[in-house]
Amino acid sequence: MNKITAIILTTLSLQLASCATTTKDSVSGVKRSQFLLMPAGTVDTMSAQAYTETLKEAQQKKTLNVDKAMVDRVRGISNKLIAQVGVFRPDAAQWKWEVNVEKNDQLNAYCMPGGKIMVLSGLVEKISATDDELAAVIGHEIAHALREHGRERMSQAYVQQFGLQALAAFATGSAVGGAAVQAAGAGSQLFFALPNGREQEREADKMGLELAARAGFNPDAAVTLWQKMSAQSKSAPPEFFSTHPASANRIADLKALTPKVRPLYEAAKAGK
Ligand SMILES: [Zn+2]
Repeated sequence: MNKITAIILTTLSLQLASCATTTKDSVSGVKRSQFLLMPAGTVDTMSAQAYTETLKEAQQKKTLNVDKAMVDRVRGISNKLIAQVGVFRPDAAQWKWEVNVEKNDQLNAYCMPGGKIMVLSGLVEKISATDDELAAVIGHEIAHALREHGRERMSQAYVQQFGLQALAAFATGSAVGGAAVQAAGAGSQLFFALPNGREQEREADKMGLELAARAGFNPDAAVTLWQKMSAQSKSAPPEFFSTHPASANRIADLKALTPKVRPLYEAAKAGK
């Protein structure tokens, strides 16, 4: 083993050791060890750039935050959820959270790494979503960000696409050939292109349910939300559905966890 390889391997193993899991264990019981080779800072920078780009494009199309009542509503719900993220990871309370609404018929929402939330108006309008149901979707998306599922997916994709060299270049801050540059360019596209895995979805469901309950939103809404989405998918399948199939398992898992988070919801309601 030459010296450079040794340095690279040491750096990578340090990173692995320091990033075994991104969030604290809680009522919903999410504690899987994660594959997180890419530095969080790199992912957050890419995410912020892609988000800024999305906002700029929407502004040009005059589709950004056009319905003030809807924007206020979505931001109000999101801010209550964001106020609870410290339970899972204290650092997330300091993230530069942003919440915007794009006028778009698609039934979809996402939260990019570092807390960049986008809700498409179709999600609010097409299923006449209640506040509790919107909190269920946004809570699920925030949970993906808290668990850094995007970074996990990118780490996996980079290893497949560019090999360990590109990751090592990020980790050591040096450029190994052109791989790191190429990889950086692919980053924001990878976020959208790579679907979350089944286990990541289960985690987002569980943590999202707890987050919403802690923020004072009725956890039963997660189930009615999926039922509404299922009904909607009979005519035209919602965008959200293609990446989030509402399997019988998904609804059964949410129902099973609901009694555990209900006391958190009741405590939040009582505290208001
Ligand atoms: Zn998801």
